Amino acid sequence: MHVELQEQIDSQSAMVGLPRCRFCAAPLRSTLVDLGMSPLCESYVPLERLGAMERFYPLHVRVCDQCLLVQLEEVVAPDEIFTEYAYFSSYSDSWVAHARDYVESAVERLGLDGDSLVMELASNDGYLLQHVVERGIPALGVEPAANIARVARERGIDTLVAFFGRELAARLVTEGQRADLLVANNVLAHVPDLNDFVAGMQQVLAPAGVITIEFPHLARLVAGNQFDTIYHEHFSYFSLLTARRVLQAHGLEVFDVDELATHGGSLRVYAQRRSEAGQPLSPSVAELTERERALGFDRLEGYGAFAPRVEDTKWRLLEFLIECRRDGKRVAGYGAPGKGNTLLNYCGIRTDLLEFTVDRNPYKQGQYLPGTHIPIRHPEALEQARPDFILILPWNLKEEIASQLSYTRRWGARCVVPIPEVEIL
Ligand SMILES: [Zn+2]
Repeated sequence: MHVELQEQIDSQSAMVGLPRCRFCAAPLRSTLVDLGMSPLCESYVPLERLGAMERFYPLHVRVCDQCLLVQLEEVVAPDEIFTEYAYFSSYSDSWVAHARDYVESAVERLGLDGDSLVMELASNDGYLLQHVVERGIPALGVEPAANIARVARERGIDTLVAFFGRELAARLVTEGQRADLLVANNVLAHVPDLNDFVAGMQQVLAPAGVITIEFPHLARLVAGNQFDTIYHEHFSYFSLLTARRVLQAHGLEVFDVDELATHGGSLRVYAQRRSEAGQPLSPSVAELTERERALGFDRLEGYGAFAPRVEDTKWRLLEFLIECRRDGKRVAGYGAPGKGNTLLNYCGIRTDLLEFTVDRNPYKQGQYLPGTHIPIRHPEALEQARPDFILILPWNLKEEIASQLSYTRRWGARCVVPIPEVEIL
């Protein structure tokens, strides 16, 4: 056989079975980081299921050679995750305040009034649209989780129970519902069919309408070594560069961007139809794009340093815990957040290295962490066990938690955070 032909066949067969980019459909050959196998991070295990089989899925983050979109393969059907989602946005005071400030500034900036329509995708329990309705501006929410949508409706917020995409957008347009402001907060990353979702956004947008999208910023994830914020339900990880590329492919132009402190560092991008130059282009777009280029996010080589740093963090955390164990020191955890489960499963930390953790959420108390089966107890358990070290799993709240735990100093306990570096506070 001709050598070239053989090579072609070899490279084709090597590509068979490779997952494809959810944006540009190129085969995904490059790895950002491979965190091994993990259960879904919110699948806490009750006592009676401790002996049952648990499902583990790969947590292998790829970067597309062609478009540089960082992504996870979809291994879990979205309806398995989102139809009875347990997260109610209104439980977080800071998140509700964030939403109120946002609505206030958007209403003013875009001059929205009783003739406008504000639409929110993944509108949750109405934590944001309630502020729109209060101002007498018509609002429509779209929320796939029926139990959460019900709460929004009880608050008087018109909410459709549906997954958003081209089909729903077309239906809304036929009914004369087009958004003057279309809000998508922390949803784009969770969308399996990215092109269908963004195309739908473009469709349902009023001609001079504005879209705002918030998502965790990949540049902050990488700079802060926040690999524990990677989990199965989070399919895409955007830089401004890739977000602009995806929006542009669907006729949308980013005209402004804000950098926010939420979720370890997020972006809020503002977009409009490319054919409408209604909103002026802010210099912040070019500025941040340039900063991302300088950090290497515009080329594949720029993504190479992340995995070795993540591995190094794993070794350091294990070294610390093993040393504690050898010295007869006791270590307990604080918090049972989803991100803790990515970290503990990736590092292979079980009760041999972390006796138990505590959480203020009564729903989690008495259950066990997925995969690692570390028991979750009431915070009082710290007082009884008097551990020497307390590993703070929600490290993003380390100041707040360390001050709550100042009483543990009485018996000489020290707080430890795993990320960005293992650090004894
Ligand atoms: Zn791609």
